[in-house]
Amino acid sequence: MKKNIVLIELHQETNSFSQVPTTIREFESLALYYGDDVINLGIKKHKRFQLAGFIKAVKKFGQGQFNLIPTVTAWATSGGPVEIDVYLHFKAYILERMKEVELIDGVYMSMHGAMGVEGMRDPESDLIRAVRAIVGDQIAVGVSYDLHANITQDKVRLATFINSYRTNPHRDHFSVGYKAARLLMDTINGKVSPVMAVEKMPLLKGGGFTIDFLNPMARIFRKMKAMEKRPKVLSVSNFMVHIWLDDEELGWCTLAVTDGDQVLAKDTAHELAELNWEVRDKPHPVPYTIEEAIKKAKRLWLRRLFGTLVFCDTSDIVAAGAPGENTFILSQLLSESDNLTSYIPLRDKEVASVHFETPIGTTIKLNIGSKLETTYNEAFQFDAKLIRKTETDFGKTLVFRHQKLSLVVTELPCPAFWPSFFTTLGLSLWKADIVVVKNLFPFRLFYALYNRKTLNVATAGTTNLDVHQLAYTKIPRPIYPLDAIQDWKEVKASL
Ligand SMILES: [Zn+2]
Repeated sequence: MKKNIVLIELHQETNSFSQVPTTIREFESLALYYGDDVINLGIKKHKRFQLAGFIKAVKKFGQGQFNLIPTVTAWATSGGPVEIDVYLHFKAYILERMKEVELIDGVYMSMHGAMGVEGMRDPESDLIRAVRAIVGDQIAVGVSYDLHANITQDKVRLATFINSYRTNPHRDHFSVGYKAARLLMDTINGKVSPVMAVEKMPLLKGGGFTIDFLNPMARIFRKMKAMEKRPKVLSVSNFMVHIWLDDEELGWCTLAVTDGDQVLAKDTAHELAELNWEVRDKPHPVPYTIEEAIKKAKRLWLRRLFGTLVFCDTSDIVAAGAPGENTFILSQLLSESDNLTSYIPLRDKEVASVHFETPIGTTIKLNIGSKLETTYNEAFQFDAKLIRKTETDFGKTLVFRHQKLSLVVTELPCPAFWPSFFTTLGLSLWKADIVVVKNLFPFRLFYALYNRKTLNVATAGTTNLDVHQLAYTKIPRPIYPLDAIQDWKEVKASL
């Protein structure tokens, strides 16, 4: 008789400082499949997701022993906490589908690990607990997380093993699922007995510091690969957290899975934690103020001649949960840039909807921004001419022009991390002096052809990279760099 493995995929990364809740719409617009559609449709469209890797490995190594029971694939863009009803809906669906299975031999859960749900803490643990209530303590439950996951005591206690991404920006979703499948099949078949150990650290660093192929972290990620080659070490993870999740267990976490050797797991996690702590003070790029960035842009005329400069709005990073409606750079470019040709994306559903009916060529007094996130975003008024309107992946999309500045207003949050976002609207990147993006990492790959220099601009908002500027109320203290700590072990929360 075939062995039954239940598949669950639920991803959302929560920015606790965002006032914009995540609704079912955000899941629908990225990926949402139920039951057999997870395999019949979801995997075909999202070939890089963890479940695609998992299924591939089961086909390759499962020798026809396993029957896969998909429940849900649900991915949303980052944002504010998920509405409680949406989470409970997913949970109910998953559990109902599991109860239809006569005998479950294993469960695979691909989750983000930094999801927040309104009125709830650590929802991933809540879901694993509910899964355990059905399958019991003896059945293998393997979990894959994003490396920005917040690893809590419950997450560790409830899972049989945990693995994670090893790239940032993330490029290894498929191989994470692939590896998890091999480990889960081997566990079900009794070939390995995974045990886990973690080291939780009072450490809170994000942004450019955490890129896997740049120093200081590149050396550590290489070391992790070497650690995994040691006998009995099955998996090693380094969780660098989502710094915008305000949670009482927030902090970097190292995790090792070994084949039955608890001491080895603990030693490995500890060794990795020490490596992280050693580099915590290594220098990394600090964003420019907008005044500095504009001054620099004016000086870099030769680079502008042969391409464009890209301004990254670091406090309005859509992929990290910001709403994408910050007007700060817009207002400063209008007043300070001396007519440099600039393109800026900005989300404003109201303006996009109202003026979708306005004839092209009309000059409008725009009242833009501050529709969703009122703490940091100021509304801004200026006169602009409507020059284009169309439907894009970001809903109704309009281009307004004021002198040499083009403002692209979208109905949905828009990171603008593909140059085609601008070029399909008739905005040539060869003609731009400055292009603003609301993205931190992936755009760097896609803009390489045009980009002569990236300038990270310090703005105020829900994805501020400076942890000193974030209004945490729940995170554990002391925590570095908010507090001076000499040795992480003195204050570590032992899991
Ligand atoms: Zn991540």
